Amino acid sequence: MLQRTLCIVKPDAVKKNVQGSIIQKISDAGFKILGMKMIKLSETMGEKFYEVHKERPFYGELVSFMISGPVVVVALEKENAVTDYRTLIGATDPAEAAEGTIRKMFADSKAENAVHGSDSEENGKIEVSFFFAESELA
Ligand code: ADP
Ligand code: MG
Repeated sequence: MLQRTLCIVKPDAVKKNVQGSIIQKISDAGFKILGMKMIKLSETMGEKFYEVHKERPFYGELVSFMISGPVVVVALEKENAVTDYRTLIGATDPAEAAEGTIRKMFADSKAENAVHGSDSEENGKIEVSFFFAESELA
């Protein structure tokens, strides 16, 4: 089943200038890039994007981090994109991420963990359309 999922290369990875290496790994894994842009999230966008985590103790810290510098948002498409992309990025905490995964290679901590990934097929669609108009997608 062809699915969409959203990658965000987070501010820690952009600061380290590893966005190119991360996007190359995603391409090499067979994901089609439908759209891509570098942006700096506003506080309102950061709060809205992570609204599902509003009640979690790290919400404030998460929003501050995500707006602390530019990010690269990438709309991806592939068969089973959601699960395959989450396998490619690895566990939320890089200390628990499998060898060879993007978070194992590029993340510093559970909070500053290099990349975002959608967690379900439905959220993949919702999150892609949060950042891209349909007319912007190849
Ligand atoms: P994932 O990004 O793997 O789907 P979650 O949806 O659980 O993980 O959390 C969203 C993001 O919030 C994580 O990617 C990470 O940046 C941050 N985060 C998660 N847990 C913590 C925590 N315990 N402390 C600080 N930040 C966290
Ligand atoms: Mg999540």
